[in-house]
Amino acid sequence: VAEVKGFDLGIRADYFLNVSSQKVSVERNRFIGIKGNQIEEVTSAKASQKKDCKRYWDLGGRIVMPGMVNGHVHLPMTLFRGLEDDVSFHTWLFERILPLEAELVSPAFVRDGVELAAWESIRFGVTTLNEMYFFIEEALRVLDRVGLRAIVSQPLAMFPLPEDKLVGLDKFAHVLKMRKRYGLHPRLEVGLGPHAPYSCDDAQLKKVGEMARELGMPIHIHVAETAREVEEHISKHKESPLSRLERLGVLRPRTICAHMVHLSEADRSLLKKSGASVVYNPDSNAKLGSGIAPICDYLKRSIPVGLGTDGAASNNDLSLFGAMDLGAKLQKLAAGDPSAYKAESALYSATLGGATALGWQDRIGSIEAGKRADLVVMDLNQPHLNPRNDLVSHLVYAAQGLEVTSVIVDGKVLMEDRNMKTVDPSAISRKAERWRSQIQKALARLREK
Ligand SMILES: [Zn+2]
Repeated sequence: VAEVKGFDLGIRADYFLNVSSQKVSVERNRFIGIKGNQIEEVTSAKASQKKDCKRYWDLGGRIVMPGMVNGHVHLPMTLFRGLEDDVSFHTWLFERILPLEAELVSPAFVRDGVELAAWESIRFGVTTLNEMYFFIEEALRVLDRVGLRAIVSQPLAMFPLPEDKLVGLDKFAHVLKMRKRYGLHPRLEVGLGPHAPYSCDDAQLKKVGEMARELGMPIHIHVAETAREVEEHISKHKESPLSRLERLGVLRPRTICAHMVHLSEADRSLLKKSGASVVYNPDSNAKLGSGIAPICDYLKRSIPVGLGTDGAASNNDLSLFGAMDLGAKLQKLAAGDPSAYKAESALYSATLGGATALGWQDRIGSIEAGKRADLVVMDLNQPHLNPRNDLVSHLVYAAQGLEVTSVIVDGKVLMEDRNMKTVDPSAISRKAERWRSQIQKALARLREK
């Protein structure tokens, strides 16, 4: 009697993106057996496998790849898309974004902004998010409902935050409450989000380090994004941002440092010793004129590097396909050497590299038995993906992102043949338009002040 394996979903694909720490390659004619939220089997495809599966997808000429990991994002900022473009980082953050957030941001803004970002992320094949924004209670609720995987970090800073009145001033108490609520969640984890070394005082950073160590919590922080920020930090604190983070106990494994554009040699050694990880945000760094992060050097030192979009107010979309393409080209340009950073490195950072940066490399980032079932299917029957000389190259240098047709997270189908299963695009568009007029009113009020 043949053993009945009883997969909930079986997938046969002509093309399969195999990602491991050794290499990124495309394999032919593979079968993936999924049971519950887990990948149970990855093997060569045979006609007999269909009968072992409650549902069976034959993807034909499509490619299946691991779900992508957006290592640094502020989801509700999708509602600010297209506002405040073409200004420097300091003007953008201190004169434009922070005053607008203080005037406008509410739990409803976060709820609707996260919904829009969830629709966009799923549409572009992003299955895991490393999120930092206000009103995490709302973000967690929406992400739980739509089915995405995420670390959601509580912002901490020494200046007033838009959520102070509703959440209270003790953000550490709030983060513990949220952590308790989501402690056993299969997809969501609550983290600590000190905004940046320049925006947090020593007491806050010390407490963050202590909590992370005692409770095993991840830390998500912006570090060394602009040269000016690093210079000002050194003249105020008499040490580099990295050195201060290390001294206060913030720099440790599962500390996810976004940007890391301007680091001295001493800082890079500190980073390597600490076990902290880097998230590369090429679009945001280029658009705000912040610089090109020395990613090739971090990779040479075996520092984990993920890839992020940053918020849609500085990108202006949440597609990692754009980030892979631009990110690879900026590294080549900075090195003056096209071989310095290859397509495989970009795909690795967008998948298993990002998972490693988040400390989730045993759970996600590649399609392997024992990992959670987070998969993306892409349609290759597109003019710009022909002929199929090298699909790794095509995914990085030719794909746009909207070729994604189906998305599975934790074994659950979130999009099938471009149909969204857990979000309602027309309702989200209507709400976003309503926010557009609210934003215009808020900007008018700010001009009067
Ligand atoms: Zn950011």
